[in-house]
Amino acid sequence: MNIHEYQAKALLRSYGAPVSDGRPVMRAEEAKTAAGELDGPLWVVKAQIHAGGRGKGHFKEAEAGEKGGVRLARSVEEAATFAKQMLGRTLVTHQTGAAGKQVNRIYIEDGSDIAREFYLALLVDRGSSRISFVCSTEGGMDIEEVAARTPEKILSFSVDPASGLSDFHGRRVAFALGLEGNQVKQCVGLIKTLYRLFVEKDMEMLEINPLVVMTDGNLKCLDAKMGFDGNAIYRHPEIAALRDETEEDPKELAASKFDLNYIALDGEIGCMVNGAGLAMATMDIIKLYGAEPANFLDVGGGATKEKVTEAFKIITSDPNVKGILVNIFGGIMRCDIIAEGVIAAVKEVGLKVPLVVRLEGTNVEKGKEIIQGSGLNVIAADNLSDAAQKIVKAVKG
Ligand code: GDP
Ligand code: MG
Repeated sequence: MNIHEYQAKALLRSYGAPVSDGRPVMRAEEAKTAAGELDGPLWVVKAQIHAGGRGKGHFKEAEAGEKGGVRLARSVEEAATFAKQMLGRTLVTHQTGAAGKQVNRIYIEDGSDIAREFYLALLVDRGSSRISFVCSTEGGMDIEEVAARTPEKILSFSVDPASGLSDFHGRRVAFALGLEGNQVKQCVGLIKTLYRLFVEKDMEMLEINPLVVMTDGNLKCLDAKMGFDGNAIYRHPEIAALRDETEEDPKELAASKFDLNYIALDGEIGCMVNGAGLAMATMDIIKLYGAEPANFLDVGGGATKEKVTEAFKIITSDPNVKGILVNIFGGIMRCDIIAEGVIAAVKEVGLKVPLVVRLEGTNVEKGKEIIQGSGLNVIAADNLSDAAQKIVKAVKG
């Protein structure tokens, strides 16, 4: 689960990390008062969407002189004007895709005078099963581009959970960024704070881009992105309360309400599978035969008919889906439950695309009977390879 920059900065502030003073603004008429509460003489007006690259992004139907989702204002009035211009508009960045994202919230911040910009991130590195730090002197820009062009400018290391974090880790970051004197001390403190926040809140990712040295020599976190482990959110009701459902894919949102492990993708073949591993293998084999999966979906072991019905509805609600592959290996999950769910869903929403069903395992005969007896136009398949070839053929001809 992701949160907005202003929410992430409130968390950083509560842990004692250096951030600017700022005010979130939800309605245009609040903008002037909010800006007036900040000192100036520089204000930063920032569109709050769950996507990066706002500064270099552009608004749809932008007028001349209107630039990006991060703008510097020289007066309270100008800050309020920028905020009003941004609210309700659609911001397109390299992370939003062409459709962009509607801006429903603004963050107005006290502007900082920047001397240098750095990149700093913490993330769970699945390779080493540890928390890793990533930092670079090339801040404020895409880290992917830095990694591709000048990988030597990125320092990355992981922290041994048994010995934990020590000052040495912070100094390592400080020296990689070329910090000196008191900045090193500040950096050591900041690294400790971020690590503690990351662990205590069960984060997956914490990105500060840019971390800056200001002209007065002090460090500050100027941007903040946080992602939290969805499986641990139940331990943090205060984080769960920060969820902004308008930022989420409506299909993923619907799936989460039914406890379905669903991830929307851009392909044309909808997948309904049980088991995360089998779901991954199904996506792979669809690609192998020349098509792309429209989603990842693991309906899980104990899915009910209602859950399967919802899952099927979510898959068919995606206009990109040109065919559906149901691949079930019934172990704990019974094939007849899947069959009943599919039929119930088709009765409710109809079936406008080819459907290939591969059932195997517990109650497979019963499942096949239900599907055959339904009169539905289902293409039966014997194994995974056969199923993938049949759905790709049905979709691509
Ligand atoms: P992003 O484009 O979505 O990553 O948004 P950021 O919050 O990182 O802002 C983009 C850029 O705006 C930063 O890299 C800075 O160069 C600039 N910026 C942000 N805040 C300030 C500020 O307080 N003062 C100045 N001078 N520039 C800022
Ligand atoms: Mg940034």
